Amino acid sequence: MSTVDLGLPRLRRAGTAPSTDHRFAAGPLLDQHGRTARDLRVSLTDRCNLRCHYCMPPEGLPWLERSRVLDDEEVIRLVRLAVRDLGVTEIRFTGGEPLLRKGLEDIVAAVTRLRTPDGTPVSTSLTTNGIGLARRAAGLAAAGLTRVNVSLDTLRADRFARITRRDRHADVLAGLAAATDAGLAPVKVNAVLLRGTNDDEAADLLRWALAHGYRLRFIEQMPLDPHGTWQRDDMVTAEEILAALQREFTLAPRPGSARGAAPAETWDVLRAGARVGDVGVIASVTRPFCGDCDRTRLTADGQVRTCLFSTSETDLRDAMRSGADDATLAATWRAAMWGKLPGHDIDDPDFLHPTRPMSSIGG
Ligand code: SAM
Ligand code: SF4
Repeated sequence: MSTVDLGLPRLRRAGTAPSTDHRFAAGPLLDQHGRTARDLRVSLTDRCNLRCHYCMPPEGLPWLERSRVLDDEEVIRLVRLAVRDLGVTEIRFTGGEPLLRKGLEDIVAAVTRLRTPDGTPVSTSLTTNGIGLARRAAGLAAAGLTRVNVSLDTLRADRFARITRRDRHADVLAGLAAATDAGLAPVKVNAVLLRGTNDDEAADLLRWALAHGYRLRFIEQMPLDPHGTWQRDDMVTAEEILAALQREFTLAPRPGSARGAAPAETWDVLRAGARVGDVGVIASVTRPFCGDCDRTRLTADGQVRTCLFSTSETDLRDAMRSGADDATLAATWRAAMWGKLPGHDIDDPDFLHPTRPMSSIGG
């Protein structure tokens, strides 16, 4: 397995030295633009068993050396810190493919036992490609996982094999069914539409999701591909997706439909005037929601990222391995979040493509 560096030396390290600034000695994860981070995305691995065109090259990526990846105890320590001292209430495990992480069930069980300072349990979820979920769903539910998001871009096995470069469509469908049986509800499905590949499937996917009780969320393709070849004009926009859905469905904005910090704008789907489900669109590019963002991210190698599109990261792994105590780690995390930029500026001509691809950041 290759151990080539993922370009981190080229990445600006913000606050690599642990923060001792007294302003960051206590409190939640605030930034200078009035936002508070409550939702922590934890990447458990950068590896994956699929090779989705928009995310990974066919040969995979130069994976992180194992010694650079946080071990289970380190992950649990940092999540505990986030919940106990930093105001985090929601944990999402992601990757790469988080089901490839040995010890996932143990991590979920440990995180499930955590309580916020007022005694509230944290909500835990998993974003997964669904491969192997059929075998693992019941165990993950028993470990305390609250729910899953499964990524599925197409209902056609041949297209799935083209998009992901692996013939595993049936495994994903089996994983989704097992998630429902295990009570990992609501089961959400994430779909990326690609022009000329599956952009004719918006309505098919929604019909299928409604029939199975899955909550479908379309995601606009973002400039997080490994080769930096994303083109705005190639992207299927939220507007196009909604127009395609409205040819068959009646969509009504949800009552009081301010989406708050949720990335998806959501519509009720009506049939004969009655609500039969909902559908969401995560329009990070054309309708960015940065002003309400409540996310903070931890990469598999222990770097805090304040945004998917950050060009800088703050190290917690080396600080932790050098003996930093919890108070110092918490202060370092607060200082990193204080510097979170107001937005990602994808539409700005000077937009800088992040050095890490999505699979390495943790989508
Ligand atoms: N492997 C898991 C999966 O596929 O669900 C978790 C990681 S994956 C990076 C998380 C989500 O990011 C998936 O729903 C995937 O479709 C989405 N994603 C990956 N690259 C993307 C891109 N360039 N633009 C938009 N979404 C992307
Ligand atoms: Fe793997 Fe998820 Fe990226 Fe697809 S989107 S290659 S499943 S990490």
